[in-house]
Amino acid sequence: MGSVNELFGINVFNDDVMRERLPKETYKALHKTIDDGRRLDAQVASVVANAMKDWAMEKGATHYTHWFQPLNSVTAEKHDAFITPVGGGKIINEFSGKELVRGEADASSLPSGGLRSTFEARGYTAWDPTSYAFIKEHTLCIPTAYCSYSGEALDKKTPLLRSMEAVSRQAVRILKLFGREDATRVMPSVGPEQEYFLVDKKLYDQRSDLIFAGRTLFGALAPKGQELGDHFFGTIKPRVQAFMTELNEELWKLGVLAKTEHNETAPAQHEMAPIYSTVNVACDHNQLTMEIMKKVAGRHGLMCLLNEKPFEGVNGSGKHNNWSLTTNTGYNLLEPGDSPHESAQFLLFLMSVIKAVDENQGMLRASVASAGNDHRLGGFEAPPAIISIFLGDELTEILESIEKGTDYSGREKSEMTVGVHMLPKFPKDTTDRNRTSPFAFTGNKFEFRSLGSSASISTANVVLNTIVAESLRQFADELEGAENFQEALHDLIVRNIREHKRIIFNGNNYSAEWVEEAARRGLRKLDTTVDALPCYTEENTIHLFATHKVLTENELRSRRDIGLDAYAKMIGIEAKTMLMMARREILPAVLKYTGEMAAAGNQILQFGQMLPHTAADELVEKLCAGCDGLNQGIDHLARALENQPKEGEPLEHARYMRDVVMEKMAELRKAADELETITDRKAWPFPTYDELLFNI
Ligand code: ADP
Ligand code: MG
Repeated sequence: MGSVNELFGINVFNDDVMRERLPKETYKALHKTIDDGRRLDAQVASVVANAMKDWAMEKGATHYTHWFQPLNSVTAEKHDAFITPVGGGKIINEFSGKELVRGEADASSLPSGGLRSTFEARGYTAWDPTSYAFIKEHTLCIPTAYCSYSGEALDKKTPLLRSMEAVSRQAVRILKLFGREDATRVMPSVGPEQEYFLVDKKLYDQRSDLIFAGRTLFGALAPKGQELGDHFFGTIKPRVQAFMTELNEELWKLGVLAKTEHNETAPAQHEMAPIYSTVNVACDHNQLTMEIMKKVAGRHGLMCLLNEKPFEGVNGSGKHNNWSLTTNTGYNLLEPGDSPHESAQFLLFLMSVIKAVDENQGMLRASVASAGNDHRLGGFEAPPAIISIFLGDELTEILESIEKGTDYSGREKSEMTVGVHMLPKFPKDTTDRNRTSPFAFTGNKFEFRSLGSSASISTANVVLNTIVAESLRQFADELEGAENFQEALHDLIVRNIREHKRIIFNGNNYSAEWVEEAARRGLRKLDTTVDALPCYTEENTIHLFATHKVLTENELRSRRDIGLDAYAKMIGIEAKTMLMMARREILPAVLKYTGEMAAAGNQILQFGQMLPHTAADELVEKLCAGCDGLNQGIDHLARALENQPKEGEPLEHARYMRDVVMEKMAELRKAADELETITDRKAWPFPTYDELLFNI
């Protein structure tokens, strides 16, 4: 094992490598493209491609791939060897600029939500030079965007890049108003904290539900869960530590800034947090992180579960998306600052987020919607399905006093005028004081906590960037035309506090009172994916995404339909897996065990002569009743699946799966879990929660 310094980025075609290997002119030209977000010149591309190929081959790579993120949740890669035939049975190794910049992907099996079928079956991939190429398993991976021939986005990178442009454009307008001419670009930066579970591979292999659905569909609770909180604070077990050490090394080699590792709340649950980076790089790196986690776990006889709710009764896994805006001059726009001028600018950017979140609660909820995450949101362990913002008491008080035009605690008796007065120092919330909030301000960034652990962070950040771009656009429009900037700024902030303060909630988001209070405030409550995804095609969403050229109506509709389709399919897979396990494993095992107990009861009867044998009789009776219940559950679920609408609206199908199929799944699970608690451990056909959660 090498040191971090030796390992870091050794498999990345990063800036150092480029500087070293590219002719000065090419390096400069490439840098210009990257910095200014311009199109790459063909000549430059060809020189870069050649240098990249030589570098990759020296490191043992034989193939290259355009690495991209289609609209389902995997990363796609099609490997091509560098070889080109030159006649006489000989080959040379070649990689042209054209191959670097643009590839063709006949990915007709990838979902397009009806987008591609009307055009051509092929799509093309295009290099994103702002995300470095890297080597993974003898393959040079080139991060790319994936579009149809007519230019419609078929992936998660394209809209993310567009949304970065959108928010940058508007933020720069605002900065100009504050005289910050030096900042020519503004980048959203993100640090995604990744939660996951580790279970023993041998136990995993015995559970069809983990194999097919990624989460347990049966399982009575273990006697102990997370109630003692001893896992979070406990030491990391040696086997897990070995996994984490290797994970870090593998990630460092790929230039991923893996920084923090610790146990999480639930038994067998852990977290890895990287140092933040520009959002498209953070997104690529998070995709890599999930892939490498699974791979490294395998080498340690472990399985890494990324599903949002692998076990009922203990916390599920999320992905906290720490988000802020940073200028190309390195200034964090959500940092309160040390002068009245900076305070005013900070307040304006803060307000832009508050307004954006309030006006787009539905889209934010939709951006984290999936079948898996539905089990987590609102489960008294994760932020609820209601979107609100935590600002902390100090900042909330400051906003209140600005709104009312009064003084506030700790300040002199004077009016707080934006742009004239400085914000008082308020303590940075580094301790995550309120972990129940879906969207918390933590001192110099916002932490969006509703993301699911298995999801790409792209969707949530596309929405975040775009809705904030829209707030900033409206602010800039208003302020650019103002006669008195100072006054206009003050008015704008006061008015926006008044209009959007309902979204601020510093209390306990898990409480029943909040649900009522949120309803009174008119906040949206979109409990499931089926409720949330239609937000994609609401009129104001379509208008907003078109204004900023991030997603067209067609692209939005395709995403909605793919999401609903994936939801329905996932529940279908879960239901079928349950039927298989119940019919072919649980029922036969329990019937056999019941027979054995009945026989044992008879034997005792012979030996014991006159004694009544209540224990055996009662057990057999309970087992029989339980098996009947299980049988009935199987019947009901099977029938519900048979009656699925075959064709038609994705929304209708998804709704049926939620309302009819999931209810029958719950009924079947209840019957099975009850049987589990009265069946001999040795007779139960697969490992139980206590074994899965506590054996590492
Ligand atoms: P904690 O939440 O454990 O107190 P931090 O707040 O320092 O720790 O960081 C949590 C995550 O937020 C890390 O991934 C970190 O890199 C990221 N982060 C810190 N500052 C920023 C920022 N300005 N923009 C985006 N992410 C950030
Ligand atoms: Mg945090």
